[in-house]
Amino acid sequence: MNITYTVHRSRKRKKTISLQIGNNSEVIISAPYFTPADEINRFVEEKQDWISKAMQKRSQALHLHKEKEYVTGETFYYLGQSYPLEARFEPLENTGVIFWNNRFFLNCPAEREMRKYHFALWYKKKAKEYLNVRVEHLSRETNLQHGGIRITSARQRWGSCSEDNSLAFSFRLMMAPPEVIDYVIIHELMHIRQKNHSSKFWNLVVEHTPDYKTHRRWFRDNNHQFIL
Ligand SMILES: [Zn+2]
Repeated sequence: MNITYTVHRSRKRKKTISLQIGNNSEVIISAPYFTPADEINRFVEEKQDWISKAMQKRSQALHLHKEKEYVTGETFYYLGQSYPLEARFEPLENTGVIFWNNRFFLNCPAEREMRKYHFALWYKKKAKEYLNVRVEHLSRETNLQHGGIRITSARQRWGSCSEDNSLAFSFRLMMAPPEVIDYVIIHELMHIRQKNHSSKFWNLVVEHTPDYKTHRRWFRDNNHQFIL
């Protein structure tokens, strides 16, 4: 492997050579002022594995936060698992998304906004089916009567409960694992009894989802999965 790197020589630095990856994925070496070049080369060679791993991690992180292009090879989340996409355009077949055999198949012209629209449509349809069943189940279990369910396209607000106890959920929830979805449903159902986030409210939540803190953390750590 051939690694290009920048060397910062410092008179203040006494003994050690150190290495870091910069914001633009460049390798930066800091070395004492009089370190011979071949010593720096040797140091970089020794760190090769570490550098390539760090680079890989960096590019993965960038990839995760990138907006989707809706092309073959990308992956999409569904109920907490990621599945690969095969995108194509067969004009004589129905346009839209099909999930089959652990794969997404998208038939649509190669136009990003249109492809995005069809993906959102698929998630919304799934959300309607899945959340209706799940909400009814949990509503019976908790003995809480809601005033209707609506599916939204909200980006950050996974769920809400209005004054008249009608519930709303973002279609993006369909990307989360089932236990996390259940937590959001329980959370909104408990708002039927408590219209705030007081300790009384959280006591109700913990009664039904003892590990709700794990689920809340999941949202914080996995926000990037919801980019569509
Ligand atoms: Zn809430």
